[in-house]
Amino acid sequence: MIKTIKNFNLSALTTFKVGGKVKFFVEAENLEQLKEAIDFAKKNKLILKVLGGGTNSLISDRGFDGLIIKYTARHISLSDDYIMAEAGAPMGALTQLAFLRGIKNFANFAGLPGTVGGAIYGNAGSFGNSIGDFILDIEAINEEGELKKINKKEIEFDYRFSNFKKNGLIILSARFLIEYGDKKEISKIMQECMQRRIQTQPLSESSAGCVFRNTKIEEISPENLKKLFQLFPDLRNISSKNKQIPASFLIDKAEFKGMKVGGVEVSQKHANFLITHKGAKAQDIALLIEKIKEGVKEKFGVVLREEVQWIGF
Ligand SMILES: Cc1cc2nc3c(=O)[nH]c(=O)nc-3n(C[C@H](O)[C@H](O)[C@H](O)COP(=O)(O)OP(=O)(O)OC[C@H]3O[C@@H](n4cnc5c(N)ncnc54)[C@H](O)[C@@H]3O)c2cc1C
Repeated sequence: MIKTIKNFNLSALTTFKVGGKVKFFVEAENLEQLKEAIDFAKKNKLILKVLGGGTNSLISDRGFDGLIIKYTARHISLSDDYIMAEAGAPMGALTQLAFLRGIKNFANFAGLPGTVGGAIYGNAGSFGNSIGDFILDIEAINEEGELKKINKKEIEFDYRFSNFKKNGLIILSARFLIEYGDKKEISKIMQECMQRRIQTQPLSESSAGCVFRNTKIEEISPENLKKLFQLFPDLRNISSKNKQIPASFLIDKAEFKGMKVGGVEVSQKHANFLITHKGAKAQDIALLIEKIKEGVKEKFGVVLREEVQWIGF
C-alpha cells in the first residue's frame, strides 16, 4: 500500500537542492504501488509527474500543484541477449553490472548520474554515446494505468530527446542490447570518462549538470555560423565531429563564467553548469538562465535551449 505525503518539500529530491512543496508525494517501489499512485492521481484529479534521481530537474519555488511520484523499482537482470533494468535503477548500477559481466556498451556512461528512466526520457549520454543507442524495447504505463510494450522502432530518439517528452508515458523498464568486450579495455574507458568528468565538471558542487543543450549547426543561420567561425577559428574543429556548437563554449566566450544571481553561480570550471549555494532559489536559476540566453543571443545570434526539465513553473 502506498503512503501519500501531503505538502512534501521537494528541494532534497533534486541535485539543484531548490524548489517548494508538492501537494502530494508518493514513493513507489514497484509496479503495484505505481498503479496505486496513478489511481490516486486520477481519483483526486491531480496532475502527475514522475521523478527519478532529480539530477536534471528544476523545481519551482512555488512547488508543484499535483502528485510527484518517485519511482524506485531498481531491479537489473542479465539474459543471454539483453540486459533489463527497471526505470528506478541508478545508471551507476547498470554501468557497474555491465562492466562486471564484461559488457562494453555502457562504458562511456561511467559517472552519468540519475536513473535509467530519467536517462531514457532525455536520451542522456556522454562521450559519444546516448542511451537510446542501446535500447531494444521499453515497458511503460499510461495515466490510465494501461501497460505498453514499445519497440525501439516506435521510439523517437534524438540528441537529448525522446518522445517520452511528448507522450506522457511513465517508463517502467527497458531492455538493452549487449556487446561483450575485454574487461581491461572497458575498465580503461570507464576510468578515462571518470577522469574527464573530474577534470571538467564541478562535481563537489550542487548542480543539475549541463543546463543547456548544445546547438546543432543546422539550427544556426549561415551568417551567424560564419561569424562564429571567424571569431573563433578553433570552433570549426570543436564542432566538426558531432555537428554541434557546445553551449559551454558560447557561455564562456560571452563571459558568463562566475556570474551570480542570488545564490546561483555560473561554474568557473564548466560554463554550462549552474551551481547552487546555500539559500539559492529556483527563481535565481531561472533569472540566470534568462540572462545567459539573452547574452548569448545578443553576442552570437544563437538561441540556447534548456536541457534541464522545468517542473511547476
Ligand atoms: C554532475 C552531473 C553530471 C551530469 N552529466 C550528464 C551527462 O554527461 N550527460 C547527460 O545526458 N546528462 C548529464 N547530467 C544530467 C542528468 O544526470 C541526466 O539527464 C539524467 O539522465 C537524469 O536522470 P534522473 O533520473 O536524475 O532524471 P530526473 O531529474 O529525475 O528527471 C528528468 C526528467 O525525466 C522524467 N522521468 C524520470 N523518470 C521517468 C520515468 N520513469 N518515466 C518517465 N519520465 C521520467 C522526469 O519527469 C523529468 O522530466 C548530469 C547531471 C549532473 C548533476
